[in-house]
Amino acid sequence: MLEAEEYRIPYRTVPAEAVQDELARLASAFEHALEELSTQGEWLKTNLGRDAASVFDWHVGVLKDQHLRDNIENLIKDKCAAAAYATSTVMLNYQRRFMQMTDPLLVERIRDVQDIEKRLMRHILGEAREDLAHLTKPAILVAHDLGPTQTAQLPDTKVIGVALDAGAATSHTAILLRSWGRPGVIGLNDVSTRVSGGDLVIIDGSNQLVIANPDDATLEEYRAQEVAYHKLSGELDELRDLPAVTKDGHRIMLHCNVEFPTESAVGVRKGGDGVGLYRTEFLFLRPEGPPSEEEQYEAYRQVIRGAEDRPVTIRTFDLGADKYTQQRQYEQERNPMLGLRSIRYSLQNLDMFKIQLRAILRASVHGNVRMMFPLICSLMEFRQAKMTVHDAMEDLEETGTDFNRNVSIGMMLETPAAAVQVKEFCREVGFVSIGTNDLIQYLLAVDRGNERVSQSFSGSHPAVLRSLRDVVRACTQAGIDCSLCGEMAGQPLYTLFLMGIGLRQLSMAPANIPEVKKLIRLVTTAQAQRIARRALSFDTERQVTNYLRDETRKVLPEDPI
Ligand code: PEP
Ligand code: MG
Repeated sequence: MLEAEEYRIPYRTVPAEAVQDELARLASAFEHALEELSTQGEWLKTNLGRDAASVFDWHVGVLKDQHLRDNIENLIKDKCAAAAYATSTVMLNYQRRFMQMTDPLLVERIRDVQDIEKRLMRHILGEAREDLAHLTKPAILVAHDLGPTQTAQLPDTKVIGVALDAGAATSHTAILLRSWGRPGVIGLNDVSTRVSGGDLVIIDGSNQLVIANPDDATLEEYRAQEVAYHKLSGELDELRDLPAVTKDGHRIMLHCNVEFPTESAVGVRKGGDGVGLYRTEFLFLRPEGPPSEEEQYEAYRQVIRGAEDRPVTIRTFDLGADKYTQQRQYEQERNPMLGLRSIRYSLQNLDMFKIQLRAILRASVHGNVRMMFPLICSLMEFRQAKMTVHDAMEDLEETGTDFNRNVSIGMMLETPAAAVQVKEFCREVGFVSIGTNDLIQYLLAVDRGNERVSQSFSGSHPAVLRSLRDVVRACTQAGIDCSLCGEMAGQPLYTLFLMGIGLRQLSMAPANIPEVKKLIRLVTTAQAQRIARRALSFDTERQVTNYLRDETRKVLPEDPI
């Protein structure tokens, strides 16, 4: 079990023999928190004066309050509570005392108490996270939430599956779990309060289920399902070397989405026609800070090499929103999805942006490479970003470094503003790649990572279907290459619709390629066009989903859709 610092920690106990470890974890957290406060307080006193530092004195006073400390320790000793839970509970009671006060100055203290709690939790959980790296046996991770940064570290651990209270299907955590290829179930609301450390757990990724302590019959049934699953994916792998061609001979290019440099080779092994989206920002989510130009160049070369001469589309870093670098972790914004993210962040951090552009330009000589910018909202942003590419080219020319001057420069179309202005964009961009994860989020005003509203996040919403049709039509009329790289591209439910509106390039997680390919090979373009037309005639999301599910089942009756 792993707890997350931003949330109330669920009740969790530890075995009696682990109580001493929890007490030690707590003592170490207090010690580190006090050390940190003393360093930060000194800095404030020297640089900003005694008044500015006085709030830290108050924090130190709370941490030295023996009564508070005794309360936490007693909860651990008497109830075998985990250190994180005990701390969180006692701190919540402490906050409540201030909530009842009438003096506004004292009410203000609630925020300070929350700060102190967060600081303690960071140290308690920091140790828990380290434990994850030192797991000696395969384990399933059950947690309230997990950010993309933590998820990106999982492949280096012995974790074999994940179940989370928070999150939704197109959050980056979910995307990473899929690309990692291990079962993950997210958005379960309260799984972390229902499962305890040491429980036997089944993760059923296909049905989004977690079964704790199954009986023998259930265990048997799932073992049989596991064998059947491997057999089915083995059969699908046989399609690997066959192209995705419709029955009437139209080729659809199936590219893969890549989060880690090693993945492009995996995508090609799954039958991918190239890399349609390389999410470079994951290189930046590491404790050491942004990678150097050389490190980036090496990573991009690896992606290009893995693609073996197939086309590769590199997206410049899409940081912010749910992907904060470790340096920015503690400057979270009030509304990050609408905040300093993606191309906006790049244009405010030009030095960092230019380093990346130079690395991409240098790597481009080694293959068939294009680059694109994320979350473009206006023509001005696109022009500014393109100008920065030209600056980077000049830098390289000055040093006589080899690069590809003719690299195609495109945009991700993932905001309603860009969809509305698609015709104007078509006059300036090299290509368009539709990011439906964000497009749906902004079109339907629904946070893509929030389990409480995940019901409202749907590619079947008529407004989404019509926007996609209009964008593809505008690109086709302008002769601009258009692809789609959001999660919809890998969902068989939407394959026939997307083909029917004229898309000929889809980019998805490598694991989705075989099934989508199988479907494409069983239909004609005319069939897909008829289905798209009918899907576009419905008024509600539910009618669209039911219709597309029925039509897809007619073609692929044996697959779960
Ligand atoms: C998208 O928004 O659809 C997309 C492909 O980009 P990301 O999921 O990385 O935001
Ligand atoms: Mg996006």
